[in-house]
Amino acid sequence: MKIYLVPIGSVHGQCLDYLAEVLSRLFSADVAVTQSCPLPQGGFDEDRGQYDAAAVFRGLAACAPICKKEQRVLGIIDADVYAQGLDFVFGLTDPRTGYALIALTRLRPEFYSAAGNNALFCERGVKEAVHEVGHSFGLAHCPQASCIMHFSKTIADTDRKDLKFCPACQQKIPQKISARKLPIFEAPAKTRRKFY
Ligand SMILES: [Zn+2]
Ligand SMILES: [Zn+2]
Repeated sequence: MKIYLVPIGSVHGQCLDYLAEVLSRLFSADVAVTQSCPLPQGGFDEDRGQYDAAAVFRGLAACAPICKKEQRVLGIIDADVYAQGLDFVFGLTDPRTGYALIALTRLRPEFYSAAGNNALFCERGVKEAVHEVGHSFGLAHCPQASCIMHFSKTIADTDRKDLKFCPACQQKIPQKISARKLPIFEAPAKTRRKFY
C-alpha cells in the first residue's frame, strides 16, 4: 500500500511529517511526500476567495501520481476550497478518480478568531486527511460522532472526533482485507457518490 501526499502550492512542512507518520500507521502504508504541484490555474474564484475543488482535482490529475488499486493520492492545499453546491469543504474525495484533497485554511484556529495553535491545526489536518483517505478506500460516513469517518459539518465536529476508526469502520479498511479484495474506483455510474 502506497499513499502519496502531494502539496499543492506551499504547505507547512511539520504537519506533513506528522501526517505521513499517522497515515502510515493507520493504513499500514508506505507514505511518500512528492514535490509540490502548482496551484490550479484559473481555479480561483475572486468573488468567493476560494478555489474550486474541481480545478484542484484537475490539477492533481495533471501533476500527481495516478490512483490505482494499491496506491492513493492526497492533495494538500493551504487555501480555502469550495465544491459545487457547498459553501466550503474541509476535504473532498473524487470517487471517479480516487483523488482526495484537504484544504487547510479553515483548520486554523485563527480562522475562527481564536489564538494560533499549531498542534491543534496539525491535528485537524491529520483528522481530515485520514477521513478523506478513508473515503478513497470506499468507506462512507459513520453515524458515530467519535469515529474519524463521521461527517464534519463544522470544525467542532472535527475536534470532537478521535483520530481513529470505530471498530465497524476499521474492519473495512484495507489492512484487514487482502490486497486482491481492495475496492476499485471504476464503480458503475449509478453507485458513484461524492464524499465530503
Ligand atoms: Zn465508524
Ligand atoms: Zn466525508
